[in-house]
Amino acid sequence: MTFTILSREDASSERIAEKITQALEKKGLVREDKHPDFIFFVGGDGTFLRAVQDHINVVDRATFVGIHSGSLGFFCEYGHHDVDQLLKDIPSLSSRASTYQLVELYLETTQPKTYYAVNEVRIENPFQTLVTRVLIDDKEVETFRGTGLIVSSTLGSSAYNRSLGGALVDGHIPTLQLTEMAAIQNTVYRSLGSSLVLHPNRVIRLKGDFSSAIFGFDHQLHESSTPITEVRVRLSEKTIKIVHQFKHSYVETIRKTFIQ
Ligand code: NAP
Repeated sequence: MTFTILSREDASSERIAEKITQALEKKGLVREDKHPDFIFFVGGDGTFLRAVQDHINVVDRATFVGIHSGSLGFFCEYGHHDVDQLLKDIPSLSSRASTYQLVELYLETTQPKTYYAVNEVRIENPFQTLVTRVLIDDKEVETFRGTGLIVSSTLGSSAYNRSLGGALVDGHIPTLQLTEMAAIQNTVYRSLGSSLVLHPNRVIRLKGDFSSAIFGFDHQLHESSTPITEVRVRLSEKTIKIVHQFKHSYVETIRKTFIQ
């Protein structure tokens, strides 16, 4: 079995990652950074997003396992005191993993681009009003005017989506959620004004003037000045496998993260 390991790069996470690396190698696992069977990440939920983007071409075959080095994370199964338990669990890790579809962002340009996100994709214009038609499965919903729109996955519902007033979605229900950023609402302009939780097979299309818009996916940005004529967002066939216990403890995780 092969593995790679990433850490948040603070001193404490680095120390934990080093300890885990030594323990895994002692157990006979071989370090292989390009095509690993296991991708361990030490840090928090943001570390997971980086681990996924760093391995986006091989995510389908690897299993992600998170060790939090600070507060409880949505994506981290183990605490830094649980390394012995982690080593014991290695034979059963893959069978305990849950599979999730990534969010797919397709940008129509002369050189079309496709990106993938765990949490969400963002179409925003902090400089001037973003004006875009919003279509779902080719049916017109509205013309949105405001700062932007985000489309989050179920996993991403507790991230930026939640800060914008979107709904938290139980970890095992596949959904796409369309949430507004500062929509203009008055007697002339109107949009839904609430988050829209969609069936996982829906396709969201945006058609508008994106000349000064920013396209984000998790912690990353699309970088190109080629004009974008259309944006399509859906749940991808590309999936990730991660070991975590949402099935049993999603309610506990949201209580510990947001209430306690
Ligand atoms: P980051 O530092 O990697 O993450 C920002 C915060 O969001 C961290 O506290 C992180 O937790 C937490 N987080 C990430 N994914 C989460 C999830 N699925 N559920 C609950 N919390 C989650 O920030 P970044 O590099 O700018 O961007 C990465 C993510 O940050 C984006 O995908 C976006 O969702 C989120 N973000 C949120 C806001 C906001 O809420 N206003 C603004 C920008 C970006 P850890 O501390 O455990 O890493």
